[in-house]
Amino acid sequence: MNSRSLLKTLLLWFSIILLGVLLWKLISAPGPPSGGTSKNSDWLLLLLNVIPLLLLVGFCLFLLQRMKAGSWRGGEIGASRTRTGIGYDLHRLEWGRPLIIGGLELPFDKGPVGHSDGDVLAHALCDALLGAAGLGDIGTHFPDTDPKWKGANSLLFLEHAKKLLTDKNFAIEHVDAVVITEKPKLGPHFPKMREALAKALGVSLDKIHLKAKTNEGVDAIGRGEAIAAHVVATLSSR
Ligand SMILES: [Zn+2]
Repeated sequence: MNSRSLLKTLLLWFSIILLGVLLWKLISAPGPPSGGTSKNSDWLLLLLNVIPLLLLVGFCLFLLQRMKAGSWRGGEIGASRTRTGIGYDLHRLEWGRPLIIGGLELPFDKGPVGHSDGDVLAHALCDALLGAAGLGDIGTHFPDTDPKWKGANSLLFLEHAKKLLTDKNFAIEHVDAVVITEKPKLGPHFPKMREALAKALGVSLDKIHLKAKTNEGVDAIGRGEAIAAHVVATLSSR
């Protein structure tokens, strides 16, 4: 039971109890003296006095059950639960291959080696989303041994990941990414990348945040032989 339906159930219970108490007050109010109360109306009076008590006991049992199940904790009604996932990817760069990052092909003389289009940002993002939802990783859903994914547009992976998240009632709250490459400069391409990623994930632009770093000339990335990305994704459960 999510917090919204829990709140509705609580309100329903409060309404029932209030109604019961009102009824009880109405029945037990002293009326004009009558010549003689029948035995039947005594039983009816007793029954109507017991109903609010039973409702109160039922409500207490319901609360105890919800607290035991962890669905309700003081002060958390209406709050959604958040989960975080991390994703990382790296691809070697080779001459003459298209450089696709965040669903966008950039003008450059090198590109990633990979089974799909080698989009390092989309792959790390996919892993972060799947990880946050506890759904494994990109290799589980799109194995690089499957010829179906050869040269595939990696935005398809993100669209599929979004469907899996929706099936499990997860909403994407925020994505923060850093792409590490010596060249080319990525900043000017970020607006279009954010658009492409937001569209694939069905979220607004403000939920996608991108950053770029160089590796200061160190290691394979610094020598322009590889490109990498780190992504942290935050989800909320609905
Ligand atoms: Zn990859």
